[in-house]
Amino acid sequence: MRNSRAIHTSSAEETYLLGKELGARLPLKTVVTLEGDLGAGKTTLIRGLVEGAQKQEVRAVCSPTFSLLNLYAGPPDIYHFDLYRLPRLEEFLAAGFAEYLDCSGICCIEWPEKIKPLLPSTTVEIFLSYAGEEQRAITIYA
Ligand code: ADP
Ligand code: MG
Repeated sequence: MRNSRAIHTSSAEETYLLGKELGARLPLKTVVTLEGDLGAGKTTLIRGLVEGAQKQEVRAVCSPTFSLLNLYAGPPDIYHFDLYRLPRLEEFLAAGFAEYLDCSGICCIEWPEKIKPLLPSTTVEIFLSYAGEEQRAITIYA
């Protein structure tokens, strides 16, 4: 059975800290998906997650706007996808990205909707939504 956890954050800092806490506890070989509108805080949470998992200050974690993938070399290696501009699942496969879903590190995916059929059943799913200017409602299913 999947556990769910609902959190409310009141600033970007709180969302970052939530990511950091999560990153420090994530087992290797985990896929984490983040769904929510632009500006919901997906990248902010991933920045925390990377720092929590790699236990060091991160050099610029930002949405991979012009590529679909950023790699933060670890350990653990963290693959950060932003699939907003992915046309279809077929392009994901053609780029050879599917292997990263089964990598030895951690794989974080913004806008995972288009590749849902490829995601493992163990995927940690995070949903973020606006609940006010600096308020975000965040639910984590693991
Ligand atoms: P996304 O990746 O979902 O598009 P970002 O993390 O890039 O979102 O941006 C979130 C924006 O919202 C940032 O400008 C951040 O400062 C702001 N923000 C305000 N309140 C929050 C909050 N509670 N959690 C996360 N971001 C917040
Ligand atoms: Mg983003």
